[in-house]
Amino acid sequence: MVDKELASTAIRWFDENARDLPWRAPGVGAWAILVSEVMLQQTPVVRVLPAWRAWLARWPEPAALAADPPAEAIRMWGRLGYPRRALRLRGCAVAIVERHDGQVPTGLDELLALPGVGAYTARAVAAFAYGQRHPVVDTNVRRLVARAVAGEPDAGPATRPADLVATAELLPVDPARAARASAAFMELGALVCVARTPRCADCPLASMCAWRASGRTAPEGPTRRPQRYAGADRQVRGMLLAVLRETTGPVHRDRLDLVWDDDAQRARALAGLVDDGLVEPVGGSYVLAGDRILPVDRQPADRRVPGPRRAAGPEVGTERT
Ligand code: SF4
Repeated sequence: MVDKELASTAIRWFDENARDLPWRAPGVGAWAILVSEVMLQQTPVVRVLPAWRAWLARWPEPAALAADPPAEAIRMWGRLGYPRRALRLRGCAVAIVERHDGQVPTGLDELLALPGVGAYTARAVAAFAYGQRHPVVDTNVRRLVARAVAGEPDAGPATRPADLVATAELLPVDPARAARASAAFMELGALVCVARTPRCADCPLASMCAWRASGRTAPEGPTRRPQRYAGADRQVRGMLLAVLRETTGPVHRDRLDLVWDDDAQRARALAGLVDDGLVEPVGGSYVLAGDRILPVDRQPADRRVPGPRRAAGPEVGTERT
């Protein structure tokens, strides 16, 4: 059967060619896999690797992250981009502690019910952490399936239920092999069946690929341009957040005014950070969400604030819980 042959071929290729990524190592737990999946959304592997290691060194279990304020999660997120993901991960950690005794749940419905965990992330954790049979469909998998199975040049607009059904039909019956096939499809989509110039000559699925068999027509429609960063609100948000990350406690508005000349754009970026729950206004100052001085033994070594009374003054911290 072509469907299962596709999966078997992909798995054989994956066995030989998969990147050696730490979250794929045997024995890596569900929490570490969940963190990797959230970090990898919209961020390249090479940037995620050091951030993932640092995050898990500090918060090896959900309970450790849940015990720290959101500000610490935002600080650790650093320059990974799209920092609301840090809040989502912490919200997830809190829910895991409150609802599941600190253990990442195994059931798909329980995973889907965690804050900030969507259809993709829930299935990725269920498959890669617990070896369950679920279609794990990201952009790369949608494109691979569209080309190899449907003979379409690209996946077109997202149609989640149809994507899930189409991918589920390709998976082997055995749950562990199905999870392996999902990982293989993702890797093929990321490394070989790439959007602009698919490497069909190197593709293990070439002999059974419907798009290749049809003569490979070029993708139709406008090519998506990468989003501009320089000068965009995202850059201003990043600069404001960098000042707040590097400061323990409130930062006066005057200091934030120095990071960007355009008053309207700076005000819009700051308001956006507040709306997103990343930053809180405190009088004429701003703090990272829930910022407070941690006990010395919980502070990262490079930001330790010695002495138990430093948090008392308004210039160094606001105690919140
Ligand atoms: S043969 Fe080309 S188009 Fe088909 S799955 Fe492989 S890389 Fe993609």
